[in-house]
Amino acid sequence: MSYVTGLTFGGTDWTPQFLQGIDWSKCLGCGRCFKVCGRGVMSLIALNDEGEVVDEDEDDDEVERKVMNVIDAAKCIGCQACDRVCPKDCHVYAPLAALAVT
Ligand code: SF4
Ligand code: SF4
Repeated sequence: MSYVTGLTFGGTDWTPQFLQGIDWSKCLGCGRCFKVCGRGVMSLIALNDEGEVVDEDEDDDEVERKVMNVIDAAKCIGCQACDRVCPKDCHVYAPLAALAVT
């Protein structure tokens, strides 16, 4: 399978790796990946002690911890900056399959 590729400024081939998900079992909720991403792809969410997503404004007593979540994968440019700042290796990526030209 071939994938969508680009070029660096110097003309070297580059294959973007787009964010597919974040492993909540490893995430510390530190927010480093959120700060480094300029594309609005991720946001923190709250979980209860059973690992279920809760509304932190309405269910403040139930919040056990916060984790990073993918809220708009379509905005990702595949730079993997979020991976480089994550201390727990939480992010999962994939290249974008190129459409076959006939
Ligand atoms: S790969 Fe880049 S654009 Fe995509 S979520 Fe991570 S930092 Fe944002
Ligand atoms: S940098 Fe890693 S550990 Fe920190 S919030 Fe992002 S995914 Fe979670």
